[in-house]
Amino acid sequence: MAGELILIVEDNERNLKLGRDLLQFKGYRTLETSNAEEALAVAAAELPHLILMDIQLPGMDGVTALGRLREDRRTASIPVVALTAFAMQADRERFVQAGFDGYLMKPIDVRQFPEQVRRYCERAGKEG
Ligand code: MN
Repeated sequence: MAGELILIVEDNERNLKLGRDLLQFKGYRTLETSNAEEALAVAAAELPHLILMDIQLPGMDGVTALGRLREDRRTASIPVVALTAFAMQADRERFVQAGFDGYLMKPIDVRQFPEQVRRYCERAGKEG
């Protein structure tokens, strides 16, 4: 299915624009925020199909934001994928244990990113 609504939470403007442009080119609809507080409000109001969440954000970090999303019954079942520059195995396990549905490494791989997002969307569709 095309046209899924994806919320991108990323404080690096270049990464945010790149992710948005890649997804829009593939026919996704996007919402963007540069901080977690705004992301919580947008997620509850717009109920995106998938959230791509940066970990290191000004103010509330991505792990804390994930917890807030899970606590709110409106957003509890929205899949959240960590967008992370951390590449260590220990970090990956930490994200999965924190409850993220997956993770994507930064810098964004221009060729693979849309396909990776598509797979997360499909998985979410099957579960939901
Ligand atoms: Mn960041």
